[in-house]
Amino acid sequence: MKRSGSQRRPPKLPQRPLAGFELPLAEAPGRVADPRSVDELTHELQVHQIELEMQNHELRAAQVALEAARDRYVDLYDFAPVGYLTVGHDGVIAEANLTAAGLLGLDRAELVSSRFARHVSPIDQDRWHRYAMSLSHVGESRRIELVMRGRSVRDFHARIDGVRVATADGPPMSRITLIDIDEEKRNEAELRLAAAAFETQEGIMITSADGVIERVNHAFTQITGYSAEEAIGQRGSLVHSGLQDEAFYQSMWATIHRSGRWQGELWNRRKSGEVYPQWLTITAVYDSAHEVTRYVGTMTDISERKAREDEVAQLAFYDPLTNLPNRRLMKDRLQQALVASARTQREGVLMFIDLDHFKSVNDTMGHDKGDLLLQQIARRLVACVREGDTVARLGGDEFVVMLPAVLGDEPVDAATQAQAIGEKILDSLRRPYEIIGIELRCSVSIGITLFGRQSHSVDELLKRADQAMYQAKSAGRNTLRFFDSVVQDRLLVRSALETELRYALRHGELVVHYQPVVDREGCLVSAEALLRWQHPRRGLVLPDEFITIAEEVGLIDALGHWALETACAQLRLWAADPVLGGLRLSVNVCAHQIHAPGFVDQVMGVVERHQVDPKLLKLELTESVLLHDIDDTITKMAELKARGLGFALDDFGTGYSSLSYLRRLPLDQLKADRSFVREMLTHAQDAAIVRTVIDLGRSLDLTVIAEGVETEAQRQLLAGYGCQGFQGHLFGAPMPLDEFERLARRAGTSPIEVLSLPTEQTPVDH
Ligand code: C2E
Ligand code: CA
Ligand code: CA
Repeated sequence: MKRSGSQRRPPKLPQRPLAGFELPLAEAPGRVADPRSVDELTHELQVHQIELEMQNHELRAAQVALEAARDRYVDLYDFAPVGYLTVGHDGVIAEANLTAAGLLGLDRAELVSSRFARHVSPIDQDRWHRYAMSLSHVGESRRIELVMRGRSVRDFHARIDGVRVATADGPPMSRITLIDIDEEKRNEAELRLAAAAFETQEGIMITSADGVIERVNHAFTQITGYSAEEAIGQRGSLVHSGLQDEAFYQSMWATIHRSGRWQGELWNRRKSGEVYPQWLTITAVYDSAHEVTRYVGTMTDISERKAREDEVAQLAFYDPLTNLPNRRLMKDRLQQALVASARTQREGVLMFIDLDHFKSVNDTMGHDKGDLLLQQIARRLVACVREGDTVARLGGDEFVVMLPAVLGDEPVDAATQAQAIGEKILDSLRRPYEIIGIELRCSVSIGITLFGRQSHSVDELLKRADQAMYQAKSAGRNTLRFFDSVVQDRLLVRSALETELRYALRHGELVVHYQPVVDREGCLVSAEALLRWQHPRRGLVLPDEFITIAEEVGLIDALGHWALETACAQLRLWAADPVLGGLRLSVNVCAHQIHAPGFVDQVMGVVERHQVDPKLLKLELTESVLLHDIDDTITKMAELKARGLGFALDDFGTGYSSLSYLRRLPLDQLKADRSFVREMLTHAQDAAIVRTVIDLGRSLDLTVIAEGVETEAQRQLLAGYGCQGFQGHLFGAPMPLDEFERLARRAGTSPIEVLSLPTEQTPVDH
């Protein structure tokens, strides 16, 4: 207020004080006779002088205030963050603030009186001129963005606002503001870049912190089928397929919360309902307070990559010949089926299928035909089962069929159904095959085990099915067998027995018993050496209980060798004996022994070591030696026969020897099997068989011995048929050495006393 007062007063100053001052001066010539004294005038002058000084002071203060105000406005003008320029109608800059000079990289003095156009980049000259011309109406403002050229600084983008203003003393001027918008431009470019990056091949979905979709890009729409309008506002779970369980998402979000990021493969569902695999990356976006503001999900459809991976998997998990799953995949599926059936408590079925005599197909027809056969078998197997069941090829001629837990609840049901399917497979596979115009027949053996009730490992189950398959094989092939715990128990007993048997062999628990063989007169002519196991707990164990096992575990050769050794040692001991010297001994030899390499040398080695007359030794073979490699058998028999050994064909009539083979074997003797002898008095058929065997022996020039002769009636009937030798309890059961020797000495060359039969010790604990 004070200042405004002092501003208001100075213009009045010349009137009032000067009037008081001037009047006397002006009036002075006319007022000579002024009665006032000089003192009075002096005083008045002094007062005027004081007033003048006061007015002077106020004037100066007003001037200072004005200057300060002007400086402030000049400062505001010069240092404003915006460049100000005044440009004349001729385009020359009349005024400019310091900011404008700084922006254009010039001193103000240089800038003022230069043409504005000089500071515009050549690329924008035309636009500037058009703009300058458009500023034609006073008061009208216009805006333009131009690239400006600083002298020593870089070009920059500027936003220019111009307005035409009138001037008091000349043509209108343009006032121009100049703002550097480089940074703004850069931000814009970055935004554009970001927008471009957003539209990539990868689908992008941006959600709020609580999972509501805020933005999606074009690729997202292409992948998922949902347009931006459809997706925005929905939850991210829109695209879930339901194939991943809750635990999957829980662990995924736990990772995101912990590390801000998750990536991996999952199955999502398109709008069309199609489920597809995708590679997904989820990244959390944080604000400065480290609070999540958004989640960005980028996704790639990996269906194609998957398809390629599947091709690779095809090679790793499928058998290239049949395209069936291989062992690896089958075990994998079996593992899954085990888990599933443990949950549902339903039984699944595992079948082990092995071709019968496939090797001979390969050998006789060639591997390529064998392969074609395997392919046809694979197709038939697949046709026998339902979708969801697995048919796999383990390699060679082994297949596996796995039916997951889709069968009935009761084990009986499952077994019944498994049997039905197994029989269907047997039927289907034994129908003839046509391989390049050749008709071929083939059968399989199937081992079956159920799973799901008890927990077993995959390997254990495969082993069981395999064991059952072997049961089927030994039951004559082209059949099926179930694995059951009875089988399993037997296997356990067997493995215990194996250990014990090995021990027995090393520790002298084995003995040989001798059973007499008599001629038609009842006189002792030979004996059969039969193995016995003098078990420390179980007493005397008969060979039926350990011979088969010894065969299976590979002990039979050692056992057989021991029996031969013992028999030869005995022959040697008897050699000088008046009664026993010259007695023949027969020793049983199994097929495995004969086919073992070096059999001939081994036998001859024993014979020579004990200096035994080879003529006293007879080897008994069963018809099973005819099953494999008959030529090998014949060669070895011939070699031994040439050295003087004799051969008998044991258990004759039970096997399937063809007569042609029988003729080729260098035999001396047939032993009619005791099962026919046992029934010959009650069954005419058995009698006929025994008679035929005896006739056959005669026509082939072989002696025939009847086994298992227990009664006089049997002996008479046999003798009537022309049987030359007899062996059986009627003349003596197998007996220990000392008993046998006593019997032999008592009888001498007379017939054996049939009424005083020594009986074989019977097993105690069995
Ligand atoms: P195998 O060679 O047929 O032996 C004859 C079997 O008939 C013997 O059984 C004998 O005890 C039995 N036997 C003899 N007479 C009668 C009779 O009147 N009635 C009845 N019911 N049976 C009679 P074992 O000693 O139990 O031998 C069984 C089989 O074990 C033998 O049958 C033979 O195949 C095998 N075996 C025995 N010792 C050896 C051996 O050292 N090596 C090989 N590889 N096998 C052997
Ligand atoms: Ca025998
Ligand atoms: Ca026999």
